[in-house]
Amino acid sequence: MRTLGVVGAGTMGRGIAQLGLQNGLRVLLNDADPAALTRAKASIRESLGRAVAKGKLTQASADAALGRLVTAGALSDLAACDLVVEAVFEDLALKRRLLAELERLVPAPVTLATNTSSLLVSQVAEGMEAPERLVGLHFFNPPVAMKLVEVVRHPGTGEKALSAAWDLALELGREPVAVKDGPGFLVNRVVRPYYLVAQRLAGEGAGTFTELDAALTAQGLPMGPFTLMDFIGLEVNLAITKSIFAGLGSPERLAPHWLQEKLVGMGFKGVKSAAGFYLYLQGRKDAENPAAVSLVPRFKKPLPPEEVFARVMAAVAAEAELMVQGGVASSKDIDLAVTLAMNFPKGPFAWGKSGAKA
Ligand code: NAD
Repeated sequence: MRTLGVVGAGTMGRGIAQLGLQNGLRVLLNDADPAALTRAKASIRESLGRAVAKGKLTQASADAALGRLVTAGALSDLAACDLVVEAVFEDLALKRRLLAELERLVPAPVTLATNTSSLLVSQVAEGMEAPERLVGLHFFNPPVAMKLVEVVRHPGTGEKALSAAWDLALELGREPVAVKDGPGFLVNRVVRPYYLVAQRLAGEGAGTFTELDAALTAQGLPMGPFTLMDFIGLEVNLAITKSIFAGLGSPERLAPHWLQEKLVGMGFKGVKSAAGFYLYLQGRKDAENPAAVSLVPRFKKPLPPEEVFARVMAAVAAEAELMVQGGVASSKDIDLAVTLAMNFPKGPFAWGKSGAKA
């Protein structure tokens, strides 16, 4: 039986561990905080219990899965793993320290993977004696439900690490896509214009948040950009935009929008603070947030919904094209990633081919 090591038992680590357990792997889960390990085990047990209740898993396989989970108190316990993925706090110095320790404790050529979402894999690899052992394995939240995994190669990633990460993603029943290391990797970068163009349109008075959202959902997108930003957290979404903008050398097309900056500055975070572009009553969307409405001109230049959709998707498609040209990912993988991570009915290239105005 293969053994997967997971370091960090928070939101992502416990989900990755559960995926491993559900797919027949033995999992050694480590965390610097013993309480986090206890919480992770309880949460995996609960989650497996829910899968049994829904008829997705038999009780026997849930019991067997839990029986394959080993909570490892010391990092050195991971020495016998076939692959180790780290999901500790998003802190570069911490990750570098951890990788240096892991490469010492887990003998080569075992692959080490980082689940970082906003650091470059090459930054995390800096300081490693054998950076060829490191690859990005970017799972999405929650890992058990989200099929996409971005397999990110930094300039020094070795072939062995790449194929080990790719094979693990497949073994976990995920859909891997091949991505070159860079700000935002694949999905986070390609969807930036979805949020930014929508805000520019709102700022120009092209429609209300509700109308602009509706223009996108009318074409089969599951959530309009304003609802989605509220859901993700305005401040989280803004931080991702800022980091990608800075990482790519501040291209004007990806500049953070003043509307979101102002709202975040006013303390509006979206669903979690009960107010963002919209207000939320017990977590359910209510009216537009008057404070947000007061910041934008209304109905100065109303745009037909088809035009709104075309403008937003044209910008997503343009970013996608730049990414292909820059060797970040193939058009096929970009389309696949966007459909899996964003639940868009089609990716930007398929949309272009199907004759959408975008
Ligand atoms: P989290 O805060 O929920 O969990 C992090 C865990 O790491 C904590 O339990 C903490 O005790 C542990 N930890 C910290 N230092 C450690 C050390 N030296 N050794 C062992 N354990 C240590 O964080 P998270 O949301 O699970 O994110 C983890 C990583 O995954 C980050 O790099 C993040 O960017 C990335 N990520 C997060 C999401 C998301 O939506 N939450 C999605 C994709 C990727």
